[in-house]
Amino acid sequence: MDVVTRFAPSPTGYLHIGGARTAIFNYLFAKKHSGKYLVRIEDTDKKRSSEEAIKAIHQGLNWLNINSKYKIVYQSQNFNSHIKVAYELLEKGFAYKCFLKSDELEKLRIKSRENGIPIKSPWRKKKEQDEYKNKEFVIRLKMPSDGTTTINDIVQGKVTIKNEILDDMVILRSDNTPTYMLSSVVDDNDMGITHIIRGDDHFNNAFRQIQIIKYLNWNIPYYAHIPLIHGLDGAKLSKRHGATSLYDYHDLGYTSEAMFSYLLQLGWSAKNDEDYFIDRATKLFTLEKVNKSPAKFDLKKLNNINSKYLNIMKVNDVYKLIVERFKLSLNKEEQKRFKSLLPELLKRVKVYTDLEDEFDWLFQHDFFCKDKNLQLKLQNNKFLLKEIGSLLKECEWSMENIKNCLNQYIFENSLTFKDIGPMLRIALTGKTNSPDLVSIIYELGCTITVNRLNYKY
Ligand code: GLU
Repeated sequence: MDVVTRFAPSPTGYLHIGGARTAIFNYLFAKKHSGKYLVRIEDTDKKRSSEEAIKAIHQGLNWLNINSKYKIVYQSQNFNSHIKVAYELLEKGFAYKCFLKSDELEKLRIKSRENGIPIKSPWRKKKEQDEYKNKEFVIRLKMPSDGTTTINDIVQGKVTIKNEILDDMVILRSDNTPTYMLSSVVDDNDMGITHIIRGDDHFNNAFRQIQIIKYLNWNIPYYAHIPLIHGLDGAKLSKRHGATSLYDYHDLGYTSEAMFSYLLQLGWSAKNDEDYFIDRATKLFTLEKVNKSPAKFDLKKLNNINSKYLNIMKVNDVYKLIVERFKLSLNKEEQKRFKSLLPELLKRVKVYTDLEDEFDWLFQHDFFCKDKNLQLKLQNNKFLLKEIGSLLKECEWSMENIKNCLNQYIFENSLTFKDIGPMLRIALTGKTNSPDLVSIIYELGCTITVNRLNYKY
């Protein structure tokens, strides 16, 4: 079988991390089976859809490297084909015109709710009379009223429902626009979708949508309804659990690779292992391994994965990310300094944007320590710093010589490294915590180092 999947977001806001995970599953499943992965923008609700939201979807998919390489489908452009199908169902007797006025419909709704029965309009059995010829109507699907419908969902398992619980859903509105329930099925068929992989909030819809497919003798796709993402407290993921927009994680300094890997592991696991780059994930991915219960979004785990990825990525790649993000314009010497110290600096952060705190001491020539308490310490130790500065000024610049020079000072003054190390670190970086001191001195170079040690606080 030639597998075709689709990611079908509604462009009504930002790309949610749950949507991004659905996209990843669709992408990987198609890739694994050398099939096609398509993206369909479900922009039928013109009031709620926006250009901005469409942009956000592409931005998010591009960031994760999982946008479709095929033409993007915009559902609203297929309206005519949806309307045609509504009328085909009508002609074949699988749908009917319903002329209920809004107050009549409201009464029917209340009655159905009170009795726990699905909405079936009296027009299901009525014949259209001449007096109704020019009246407004909607088209409803005539759901089978007896028998059962079974879906063998790849994730949820085999589920059977009684058809009598299905309501005669509207497929074409009175303004002649198709509903999502119709459009989605028609597009899936037109696009040749073989596997529908989506959130399990659509599982109920599948039992209703499949009736259209059966009436028209179309191919029934495979279904895989994946559980939604919850917060650690078990409640459905919402803003109170942290950012829910995928791209916010980009802005916060997470890498695309870590985000991909983490989202993939949310609700899916092959091995208890956390490095899933796209190629490896493609080999291992199966829908059968998607968990049936909701996944819990755990920021700590994402942070761990992100910091792990920052440390296994090529230094040049992380460097590029940072330079682009902070629009740094560095001269050759500064570039070298940054790249040399980057592996050490990355060990200390969860997200690369945290490195912003390091930029001043790394690159500013007229740098001075800004912390008042630390300034005081430097003032009290200015002679020591000056003396070390004088020694370093004479030093032939190599890591080895710098180390020897510091050791010589310690030895000659009967000190230990603890007596000079913390003070040098503050003077050079303005911090009490930083990468290896000798590397810092070496990378800053003689002039900058000596200037900082001589700074008059
Ligand atoms: N547009 C729907 C949504 O964003 C998805 C529909 C589907 O996958 O069938 O929830």
